[in-house]
Amino acid sequence: MSTTPADKEPRAVREIRINPIVPSESVLVATARSMRPRKAEDPAPRDTRSHVDTCPFCRGNEDQTPPELLRVPADGEWRIRIVENLYPVLGSDPAPRGLSFGLQQAIDGYGRHEVIVDHAKHGIGIHEMDDSHLHLLFSTYQSRMRALYDMDARLRYVLVFKNFGPAAGASMAHTHSQIIATPVVPQNVHDEVTHSQQYYQKHHHCIFCTLIDEALTFETTIYDRESGEVVRQINVGQYVVERSERFIAIKPFASRYEWEVHILPLKHEASYLDADEADMADLARLFRRTMARLDAVIGGAQYNFFLHTRPRSNDYPGSEASYHWHLEICPRTSIPTGFELGSGLFVNTVSPEEAAESLRKVSLPD
Ligand code: AMP
Ligand code: ZN
Ligand code: ZN
Repeated sequence: MSTTPADKEPRAVREIRINPIVPSESVLVATARSMRPRKAEDPAPRDTRSHVDTCPFCRGNEDQTPPELLRVPADGEWRIRIVENLYPVLGSDPAPRGLSFGLQQAIDGYGRHEVIVDHAKHGIGIHEMDDSHLHLLFSTYQSRMRALYDMDARLRYVLVFKNFGPAAGASMAHTHSQIIATPVVPQNVHDEVTHSQQYYQKHHHCIFCTLIDEALTFETTIYDRESGEVVRQINVGQYVVERSERFIAIKPFASRYEWEVHILPLKHEASYLDADEADMADLARLFRRTMARLDAVIGGAQYNFFLHTRPRSNDYPGSEASYHWHLEICPRTSIPTGFELGSGLFVNTVSPEEAAESLRKVSLPD
């Protein structure tokens, strides 16, 4: 920490923090006022209505979306729907072909783009959903991801993400997530997978498991569910926002966004597809509590989140041991400026240590 006696704010941080997995995603943490990027001071407020007659994602308007791909539960009133995206960014035909001229290269925009209507209540926040609903939502993400990988071998990555609120780029106010399945592995996922493989080759240990261990300060023990054997000795420390039996929510040391939080399974697991129902139930509660903390501290969180999981196993042999799936939550409280665009460095004006402390301090009912 670059604190000097001359600093007006004793805990001011002014340092470049290197992302240990993907160094190109590094961050300038600059808490001094003069360094503040333009703030999204007054993001358009989010729509908190529970039903909107004209909304295509509200109950009763099911005919205003393209064909339904999945309805949960299958019979009776739906709780979650997956539909084709009316304006997909990728299309299902033609088959992917390459194109190049001179230095320019392109491949056809083949893939799938689907919308998940997360909840029947139009403007409900994640922290307002009940745990059983979030459990269902996480299981639905998983079953759709599996179905897409099974149905089309050309899809190399299935990205599940959510934009919530205008500050996060959402064009639809009704709470929803999306799936974009692409014929290429996105570069940032590729970088995470290959960099963590390199770390594994050198240290014979998963870098994400190491980060979990390092984020902690009091000793505790994780046991294997089946064998009862000690899986790992870990500690609970200043970067830990929430911790449950199976998951941890961490404030990254090199957080790109002021209130960024990552959620990871405590036990090493490379693919989201391997999470079981008990994991989903535990994740639902931890996720809801983490979002409640964010919402309390930021005052109406508008955010993006996305799932990073191991791509198809045959694409990255050995990544089972070295990769560790996780969810990245990126609340949007500032607007990237020319500095970010020109340097590739994210500027974060809130020290991750103080942000973690504020998030931990929120008292939640259960
Ligand atoms: P976002 O822009 O993040 O709010 O995502 C909303 C998505 O919903 C966009 O990708 C739109 O293309 C899509 N969309 C908008 N209207 C409809 C509709 N009636 N049925 C299905 N998808 C829609
Ligand atoms: Zn709606
Ligand atoms: Zn791991």
